[in-house]
Amino acid sequence: MTEIAENVTRVRSIMAEACQRVGREPDSVQLIAVSKKKPASDILAAVAAGVQHFGENRVEEAQEKIPLVQQAEPGSLFWHMIGHIQSRKAKYVPGMFDVVHSVDSVKIAERLSQQAEQAGTVLQALVQVNVSGEETKGGFAAYQWHKDTEVFARLESAIETIVALPGLRIVGLMTMAPFVADSEQVRPVFASTFALREALVSSLQLALPHLSMGMTDDYPVAIEEGATMVRIGRAIFGERKY
Ligand SMILES: *Cc1c(COP(=O)(O)O)cnc(C)c1O
Repeated sequence: MTEIAENVTRVRSIMAEACQRVGREPDSVQLIAVSKKKPASDILAAVAAGVQHFGENRVEEAQEKIPLVQQAEPGSLFWHMIGHIQSRKAKYVPGMFDVVHSVDSVKIAERLSQQAEQAGTVLQALVQVNVSGEETKGGFAAYQWHKDTEVFARLESAIETIVALPGLRIVGLMTMAPFVADSEQVRPVFASTFALREALVSSLQLALPHLSMGMTDDYPVAIEEGATMVRIGRAIFGERKY
């Protein structure tokens, strides 16, 4: 077995254990292998280990790698855009990605919707929310949304606008936890994101089935708190070189 295949097996079993601890079915959480900064050959090693979903965070990098991978592996793979999208790059997204996790403004949502419509598709998307309040994190402001009624109202109205866009199908929320030494410290961020989803579902009468949360350092905790998609890079592909 390749090292990547071993890593995939280990991650899947840690995911299954986390599900078991909270009485969830193992197949209720989708593994997205984050292949940013890694070559197509690494992606193919993960495909050989049964991974079908991959996450990239830069349009240019994806434009280079996705065709290489799809040529070698024409089977059904799913590509997830997980990074901030610049307006002028939006036109490349609908043809290349199946799901966008990083809808972080109404403006980019409108652009993506327009481009998807032009391409004759509907793009699945998640609204990125900043629940931790860290300034370095992207997403719609959602810090203390449960106490600050203005924050919640602004978020509600942005999501109402985005949900009405014809080229997007909003399927959930995405969040990033702060970087901390102890993953238990991020549990409140994931729990709050789960509660935010419930609050939006009930106030806007929407279906938001997905919660994209959890990375290498914190995915077991994210799964315990209700993640349906985990985005895992280093635990599968090793450290990234910058
Ligand atoms: C890089 C990245 C990940 C994966 O991070 P790891 O710590 O390598 O698991 C997940 N989500 C986003 C948005 C990222 O940019």
